[in-house]
Amino acid sequence: MALLEVKELKTYYYTLRGVVKAVDNVSFSLERGEVLGIAGESGCGKSTLAWALLGLVPPPGRIAGGRIVLDGIELTKLSEHDLRKKVRWKKVSMIFQGAMNALTPVFTIEDQLAEPLMIHKGMHKNEAREKIAQMLKAVGLDETIMKRYPHELSGGQKQRVIIAMALLLNPDLVIADEPTTALDVIVQAQIMNLFKQIKKKYNIGMIFITHDLSLIAEIADKVAIMYAGKIVEIGSSDQVFGNPRHPYTQGLLRSIPRIRSKEKITWIPGVPPDLVRPPPGCRFFPRCKYVKEQCRKEEPKLKEVEPGHFVACHLYG
Ligand code: SF4
Repeated sequence: MALLEVKELKTYYYTLRGVVKAVDNVSFSLERGEVLGIAGESGCGKSTLAWALLGLVPPPGRIAGGRIVLDGIELTKLSEHDLRKKVRWKKVSMIFQGAMNALTPVFTIEDQLAEPLMIHKGMHKNEAREKIAQMLKAVGLDETIMKRYPHELSGGQKQRVIIAMALLLNPDLVIADEPTTALDVIVQAQIMNLFKQIKKKYNIGMIFITHDLSLIAEIADKVAIMYAGKIVEIGSSDQVFGNPRHPYTQGLLRSIPRIRSKEKITWIPGVPPDLVRPPPGCRFFPRCKYVKEQCRKEEPKLKEVEPGHFVACHLYG
């Protein structure tokens, strides 16, 4: 059984303007020890998907259908109380977008990291201190940092503290949502190396969400490309990067500068659709150079184009 099974997940925002279908019929699975990279433009639904996995979709949003099963537990059936007590941080933890602002400025690092250990594991302060020191070491920080306040740390150090916090209760699944966005390139590279070490050392599942495909290429075993609330292509990293089939994935990859390539950088014309009124048929059709009549009417379903590689496009089959 896979560590995580997401089946036909729908997460909608019920706004005055109408229903925003931010995540619409998304399915995928993840094994223990595997990293799934989820990429797509801003507003494609990737962060909403992460919130849904934690049962933390902000109002007016909610899970409107589908199932999320983690390690045999159907999260979509749990009450808010059970999610808080049994799942968040213990089984699934998240490294939030803009994590550097997630630390409370008036508490020391020790106080902030001790809280989950004391609440969820019933540890005493001394016991918690030992565990914190171990975890800080594991993310490349000196234990003396425990006595400091967040404003006394650099951006990279704060991000490492947040990563330590996410790993503190030995979760089965860690979701990292744009974890390097606010960092300069050198610190970004160091944090990516830390993620690679975590991947090797802990046998956990990881979901790495970013708009930056080059980061996903560095770390992911499996890649899902999202467009307008849907997964349009999913496969192993080698399949999606080496043999991209969906016109949107091809366009995204052509928009990344490559040092040794003579290929011209191009961009995808147009903008993603309004998710209150998405286009009928294929949601990408207004921007697709291969559009045909069928694309305007019929929604393409994910089809297997080679073992383990799925694409939702009428060009295939
Ligand atoms: Fe383009 Fe049609 Fe494929 Fe959509 S289904 S990506 S419009 S070719």
